[in-house]
Amino acid sequence: MTFDLTPEQDQLRDAVRALGRRYGHGYFVEKAKAGEHTTELWAEAGRLGYLGVNIPTEYGGGGGGITDLAIVCEELAAAGCPLLLLVVSPAIAATVLNRHGTEEQRKRHLPGLADGSQKIVFAITEPEAGSNFHRLGTVARRDGDGWLLNGRKCYISGVDEAGHVLVVARTEDSSTGKLKPALFLVPTDAAGLTRSKLDMEIVSPENQFLLYLDDVRVPADALVGESLDAGLPALFAGLNPERITVAAMGAGTGRYAIERASEYTATRTVWGGRSIGSHQGVSHPLAHAAVQVELARLMIQKAATLYDAGRDLEAGVAGNMAKYAAGEAAALAVDTAVQVLGGAGMTTEYGVATLLGAVRAGRIAPVSREMILNFVAQHVLGQDKSY
Ligand SMILES: Cc1cc2nc3c(=O)[nH]c(=O)nc-3n(C[C@H](O)[C@H](O)[C@H](O)COP(=O)(O)OP(=O)(O)OC[C@H]3O[C@@H](n4cnc5c(N)ncnc54)[C@H](O)[C@@H]3O)c2cc1C
Repeated sequence: MTFDLTPEQDQLRDAVRALGRRYGHGYFVEKAKAGEHTTELWAEAGRLGYLGVNIPTEYGGGGGGITDLAIVCEELAAAGCPLLLLVVSPAIAATVLNRHGTEEQRKRHLPGLADGSQKIVFAITEPEAGSNFHRLGTVARRDGDGWLLNGRKCYISGVDEAGHVLVVARTEDSSTGKLKPALFLVPTDAAGLTRSKLDMEIVSPENQFLLYLDDVRVPADALVGESLDAGLPALFAGLNPERITVAAMGAGTGRYAIERASEYTATRTVWGGRSIGSHQGVSHPLAHAAVQVELARLMIQKAATLYDAGRDLEAGVAGNMAKYAAGEAAALAVDTAVQVLGGAGMTTEYGVATLLGAVRAGRIAPVSREMILNFVAQHVLGQDKSY
């Protein structure tokens, strides 16, 4: 067992950290408040190869794994730039296409995802289905040699920045007559696809949308994979990378908050000459949060290592646990940081309260803490399913 990264991964960590710090949380917040995107940071990360670290070299990527992409997610977040679209585009979309797309789809989309010139977002959540993906109501019907999609999706991140949406729909299986899931690459400017931006209480340069699909016609090659049988495995292929990278983003955000808070409490004095950090009522909550973040990082490393070793089932358990742990640790770290900074904690300048919405959302999305507990109860503890 080793807890060390490879020398290349150490270099990647240092380089991404340097890039993130050059932009910093001030840049992230400024973009969010101006209603703009972190276009410059995304483009530079793409040029430097960080967005495509997990994409095979033959498609313009770095040929690494989810461990490498988790490093990118964590270090940018630790610099105050938690980019949710890293989880959606390189983690989910690139993995799904790489593992289950056709060769033509890989050639067409992966190079753009690797260099950051293209983003593909992911749409599964629906207003009526929520956490229950068995209730998905978006349907794809054969229409000549193509497909006709109808349905509604909600909370879909980054549609305004992406060229395509990876839409999870249901199709009719001709042999059984049953509906089964399939993924479609739908251009964001497709006729019949409309969107409305949701007002979210999250300080983020990335937006969420309601999507309406009204007779959206896509060609046959929009279906991900060679046949409808690719649907379910393609859908599952995105889950582990999603859990692991969103966990890494949470751990990075937790580190960022604890670092900001520790700098402050080590130098702030209001009782004689002693720093407020010398009071254990201040330092212990921070130390407790640091322990939780570090434990989450350990689980992320385990999950990413298992995933990169091709041990998908074990990575599923570890990835869910890592996501749960990191979501809780990030929320705790940011809340604690706000508290120990006192009034400064609520200012924009000190840059911690700006993360409250994001870390709160991290306990709900992309999979809620309750659904992870359900997963662990059933698959690890052998409990009956209640729903
Ligand atoms: C910032 C943000 C970005 C997002 N981006 C995307 C995106 O890009 N693409 C996308 O497809 N979706 C996205 N989502 C949606 C997200 O995945 C869902 O919000 C999440 O899966 C929960 O679904 P829901 O909101 O419908 O909650 P519901 O399913 O309505 O659940 C409500 C509450 O009930 C709990 N609950 C539900 N069922 C059970 C049960 N069986 N046992 C115990 N508790 C249960 C849930 O945990 C939750 O706390 C995003 C959401 C947010 C907040």
